[in-house]
Amino acid sequence: MTVTDGSLVVTDLRVEFDGFVAVGGVSFDAHPGEVRFLIGPNGAGKTTCIDAITGLSKGSGSARLGGQELLGKPAHKIVRLGVGRTFQTASVFDELTVLQNLDIAAGLHRSSLSLLRARRGVDPAIHRALEETGLSRELATPAGILSHGQKQWLEIAMLLVQDAKVLLLDEPVAGMSLDERTATGELLGRVAATRTVLVVEHDMDFMRRFASRVTVLHQGKVLSEGSVAEVQSDPRVQEVYLGTAAAPSVMTIGREDD
Ligand code: ADP
Ligand code: MG
Repeated sequence: MTVTDGSLVVTDLRVEFDGFVAVGGVSFDAHPGEVRFLIGPNGAGKTTCIDAITGLSKGSGSARLGGQELLGKPAHKIVRLGVGRTFQTASVFDELTVLQNLDIAAGLHRSSLSLLRARRGVDPAIHRALEETGLSRELATPAGILSHGQKQWLEIAMLLVQDAKVLLLDEPVAGMSLDERTATGELLGRVAATRTVLVVEHDMDFMRRFASRVTVLHQGKVLSEGSVAEVQSDPRVQEVYLGTAAAPSVMTIGREDD
């Protein structure tokens, strides 16, 4: 396998909480140019994988960005290497405008001097992120009154102004309307053209519409991996998703909302 810069390669990732194995030896890789999905029912270990890759949980095994090992590094160093994430609950500053939120995100990579300089027009990186996420008209809107979808897009825009090479998105379309889901899927396609995008999701229909490649997790292990068609026709996946494996929050097949 060729590992280009910007590719994320996770090998035999394990995370335990007091002896409970949340992630039990998971391997997958994600590359620029594909919209990579990690799916699985609640409790499968998806968020824990992201937490380990971003330094929020202690994991063993390996998670490499290009040639760099991420596991064992503190979270802020992993951010500086270009790994950005979103959380299941949007974490924007509600009382600040869209532009102010993006300024704060951009500050991570800029000297305080340049932040202090009076703004003459919008910073080019911020301008590009606004265009890419379709938020250009919301520049002066307080984040708190954005729609649910727009808040998630603002979080993605914040990762873009930080120049993230890898975006790990935790259930980005949860609670979104169908139109917002479609817009998000299209946005992810644009973002992924030049960056590594890993979407954690339990919604089967969103995955089916927008995934290039999928890894299915179940009880901390990889259950299946492949194209959407391959994963959907895998009897083990059908068993888990149709609830015969007694998962309390089954994913739906063939419905937009669950
Ligand atoms: P998913 O994101 O796929 O829904 P999680 O990664 O959040 O699943 O959780 C996987 C398993 O690990 C669950 O059984 C969850 O209860 C457990 N878990 C997650 N975080 C912790 C933690 N900090 N301490 C103990 N158990 C945890
Ligand atoms: Mg989760």
